[in-house]
Amino acid sequence: MSLTSLSISELQQKLRSREASPLDAINALEARIATVDGRVGGYLSRNLEAARQLAATADVNLPLGGVPIAIKDVINVSGEPCTCASKILKGYVSPYDATVITKLRQAGAIPFGRTNMDEFAMGSSCENSALQRTANPWDLTRTPGGSSGGSAAVVAADEAFAALGSDTGGSIRQPAALCGCVGLKPTYGRVSRFGLVAFASSLDQVGPFTKTVRDAALVLNVISGRDPRDSTSIDQSVPDHTTHLGEDIKGIRIGVPKEYFVDGIDPQVRSAVDAALRQYESLGAEVVEVSLPHTEHAVGVYYILATAEASANLARFDGVRYGHRAASANLLEQYQRTRAEGFGPEVKRRIILGTYVLSSGYYDAFYLRAQKVRTLIRRDFTQVFEKVDVLLSPTSPEAAFKLGDRTDDPLKMYLADIFTIAANLAGISGISIPCGFAHVGESRLPVGLQLLGRPFEESTLLKIAHAYEQATQWHKERPAL
Ligand code: GLN
Repeated sequence: MSLTSLSISELQQKLRSREASPLDAINALEARIATVDGRVGGYLSRNLEAARQLAATADVNLPLGGVPIAIKDVINVSGEPCTCASKILKGYVSPYDATVITKLRQAGAIPFGRTNMDEFAMGSSCENSALQRTANPWDLTRTPGGSSGGSAAVVAADEAFAALGSDTGGSIRQPAALCGCVGLKPTYGRVSRFGLVAFASSLDQVGPFTKTVRDAALVLNVISGRDPRDSTSIDQSVPDHTTHLGEDIKGIRIGVPKEYFVDGIDPQVRSAVDAALRQYESLGAEVVEVSLPHTEHAVGVYYILATAEASANLARFDGVRYGHRAASANLLEQYQRTRAEGFGPEVKRRIILGTYVLSSGYYDAFYLRAQKVRTLIRRDFTQVFEKVDVLLSPTSPEAAFKLGDRTDDPLKMYLADIFTIAANLAGISGISIPCGFAHVGESRLPVGLQLLGRPFEESTLLKIAHAYEQATQWHKERPAL
């Protein structure tokens, strides 16, 4: 059996017993990438020399010692490109490490390779990448999801033991669901955003893609914590998130929000999620119907707030400080040409929308009102979490759709995140875990189960996710590539 099919925990056993070395792990990944990434297209670049150097001196007894981890191309790693899959950042090399990277390094992990994504993390299919196409490892004609599609695809295809992604409206959970791996969005403020290229600063959070729930806990342990360089990171003690894994979940209360079980969910997704609910009941959990009455406004509110924040955040890409610079005679024209040439159509659409909702005369009607509805959405969650420990829903209303299917219809694409977006608006934690397959023609496509947890209670969320994972076999399935 090749090393690359191992989880982090399994790899660590081999590293610590000296059955394999970190360099073996890197070499095994390289061989696997050479075999499959021509078809999957998950990686944008890899800095092998740096990875091998780190591997040579890695202390395997550290929490992630000697474990290579792939990084979404929106997180800065010193000396490596950070393109955000945009032409505007072509040629840009990061001068510093993001805090999550510093923390990974301190824990002995090896930042390994940069994964493809939708440009500036805007999208749900990876098709907004200006640089590369990524395919779903389960069916190469379909999307891996997005925006962190590259991270999900390389983990699912055994081209990485784990990967980091970012989740602003679902970009970790939705691709994890579509590719059949575990994807965790931590509570807003749990993980530092310093060195994560900002899309929507009040929603963005970094989190892991892994093959198992335990591995997600291991990575979360390392990347969490207050960072003086991110004023929105919160000073909360970081527990060991593996402590409660394996504990009984008898008596746990699982809320099923009735607004999340409406028409439009693919019947096979629906039946996989229903079966998961029954599984939880047989593990002793109590299932309770709850209501999140403002859910219907989540997508609308998100596309006002996220675009408003994006329009401000992306103003820094003007051709002066970073990456691509258009030739021109005067400064204003240089800004305009650089941005016209550098940004793709979806990014431009968001900047225009965001600028519009912030402009005087429209600010009150759109931006301010959306902020108020955001408060109501957050309050819905606070209220139900007085009654239940976690919420359960599908991660995505359907399994992976065909590449090219949605590219002409942005609204349809926006609905891919209908179940994930509210968690970002509320700032709570969420996870997607494999819960079955949808059969479409010859294809077997993974289905994801979403669990949402109280803020800063990732330990409980992970415990409940782990109980289901251990009672089922879904996480052991791999695509035939
Ligand atoms: N698909 C959503 C969007 O396009 C979410 C993206 C994300 O979470 N980064 O904005």
